[in-house]
Amino acid sequence: MLDYDVASRSGAGMRYTLDQGWIDQARRVPSPNCGPRPLGAAVELLVIHNISLPPGCFGGDAIEQLFTNCLDWKAHPFYAEIRGLEVSAHFLIRRCGELVQFVATGLRAWHAGQSCWRGRENCNDFSIGVELEGTDELPYTDAQYATLAALTDTLIASYPGLCHDHIAGHADIAPGRKTDPGAVFDWPRYRASLAPAGDAA
Ligand SMILES: [Zn+2]
Repeated sequence: MLDYDVASRSGAGMRYTLDQGWIDQARRVPSPNCGPRPLGAAVELLVIHNISLPPGCFGGDAIEQLFTNCLDWKAHPFYAEIRGLEVSAHFLIRRCGELVQFVATGLRAWHAGQSCWRGRENCNDFSIGVELEGTDELPYTDAQYATLAALTDTLIASYPGLCHDHIAGHADIAPGRKTDPGAVFDWPRYRASLAPAGDAA
């Protein structure tokens, strides 16, 4: 039984274990929507997203079904709009704080689409994508912030190319096309929750 009651932990410090690109403490739901990163492409960016399926509905299995190409397109009218979509992210953090992993961090997940970060296009090549179960309007939960902080600290400690300055929202790398994680995402709170730079303890 995994313990996701990490919201009560104050400040930085909690870490997960990353083994062969998989977080030991995450529930694994392997997605076929991935591939190798281009030769020489290091992980240098963390991208924060949000998703809910159907939009605004939380707690069901639809996100996992979408990322594993098992979504019944007829199950909800909205799904007709995304029919045939083949996407994934490395991680999903559910409202309760549960961490779900779909793609090994060494592989290229399909989360960013057309995108550009500091002059570099195709952010999927060099990024890790994290989806927060949510919408642009509803505040994220304490449990989600806690899990995201622990995940971020773990990834920064594992990838030399990642640092506090190499974190972006999907809206930042696909402006005009994407809005997530939305104005409700509390960037100052998130950044304050991370372990100090250089702290590999
Ligand atoms: Zn997104």
